[in-house]
Amino acid sequence: MPPRIPLRRRRRTKIVATLGPASSTPEVIERLYRTGADVFRLNFSHGSHEDHAARIGIIRALERKVGRPIGILADVQGPKLRVGRFQAGRVQLQTGQSFRLDMSATPGDVRRVQLPHPEIMEAARIGTTLLLDDGKLRLRVVHKRDDHLETEILVGGALSDRKGVNVPDVALNIPALTAKDRADLDFVLPLGIEYIGLSFVQRAEDVAETQSIADGRAWVMVKLEKPQAVENLDSILALTDAVMVARGDLGVEMPPEEVPLIQKRIVRAARDLGKPVVVATQMLESMISAPAPTRAEASDVATAVFDGADAVMLSAESAAGQFPFEAVNMMDRILSRVEQDSGWRQLTDAARPAPQKTSAGAISAAARQVAETIDAKVIATFTATGSTTLRVARERPAAPILGLTSSEETARRMAVVWGVHPLPSHEPNSMTDMVNKAMRAAQSEGFATSGDEIVVTAGVPFGTPGTTNALRVAALK
Ligand code: PGA
Ligand code: MN
Repeated sequence: MPPRIPLRRRRRTKIVATLGPASSTPEVIERLYRTGADVFRLNFSHGSHEDHAARIGIIRALERKVGRPIGILADVQGPKLRVGRFQAGRVQLQTGQSFRLDMSATPGDVRRVQLPHPEIMEAARIGTTLLLDDGKLRLRVVHKRDDHLETEILVGGALSDRKGVNVPDVALNIPALTAKDRADLDFVLPLGIEYIGLSFVQRAEDVAETQSIADGRAWVMVKLEKPQAVENLDSILALTDAVMVARGDLGVEMPPEEVPLIQKRIVRAARDLGKPVVVATQMLESMISAPAPTRAEASDVATAVFDGADAVMLSAESAAGQFPFEAVNMMDRILSRVEQDSGWRQLTDAARPAPQKTSAGAISAAARQVAETIDAKVIATFTATGSTTLRVARERPAAPILGLTSSEETARRMAVVWGVHPLPSHEPNSMTDMVNKAMRAAQSEGFATSGDEIVVTAGVPFGTPGTTNALRVAALK
């Protein structure tokens, strides 16, 4: 009898599904996982600590039930800027009129409202643009005082309590971590999560600070959603572990026509470095209230696969929509379909970055090449921190990648990585043991059978992070 293969995914590109009111019970979360979600995102802009802790408990119980590592992304809100409240809850701002933003907590009207962010008062200049409510309204600063800004309404419209404010023109003197974010991280890091989503990053120092708080307990995933972050891309990428192309706010802060090009640039840069990259926001937006996507949305998901993303993300579609399972299923179908296309394979091969000029880079490139030449059924990687597996994933090989690790944390972190099937394993005690363990895993997970060849790679001595220096080929008996 062939071994039963529980929940083995066949696609390379991973799915991140945001949890929310539509997806907080064990039944729904399990069904999202079985339908195709590899990583769950907790959005700390909403929900209480108790809500998030309950979801973490549900995911870990599910993990034990299905025997598969699952990644959790704790996405902290960051310095999301907002206006204050209005006497009537909402006002209608007329194009061409003036409107004042000040520090007074008195409820606002058509003439003024509170903007409780002194950093904006400080950084704004005459001519600075302020975007309100996801860019629907547009103001231009015409006078500036220490405690208020006088603006002209360039594009009017309805404005209600606590709507968001974006200030794309200027670098704000605001760190990416707010007091709320620090409290959220203090709460969630001890519970055990895989990735910290860091919102509104502007500079490398934001990443460095979060790395020191994370202290190895989670990977830092920067959300690139500000023009300043795009300007500082290289220095930010150097310090982060993973990246999200956060197109929601990015598309407010930058002209929409720039977003596709920035997406391609970020994905390429992350792939060059071998760091996981997630494409996020509005991917299947219409599925919040419809059981099928638009053609444009299906194309958008496919484009992310062609660009080479490790993962694609659902936000409100799975968190608050009416069709969370249909959305995950649709994504799964699009990803799988693209990955079967020979044109996609050719493009992926053509876009492969040159090997990193280190012995580890050379061995990883060789592993891919050997696997291709002999049509190996799997590339088994042994890894302590994930680095060997990430190096092989960077090669985007045709063969599936087995991520074998004795670290439960590392196994979970690899859930977001392109092409990787993570699997807990004991650390090998010799090269022979390594090859035997790899063969057994390849067979029991249904990747290879008698007579098939596999490629095995690792850093030796085992358990020393940062090396990838061993390459073996083995045939299953
Ligand atoms: P958000 O981030 O959903 O937390 O705003 C994603 C984005 O801006 O695209
Ligand atoms: Mn955002």
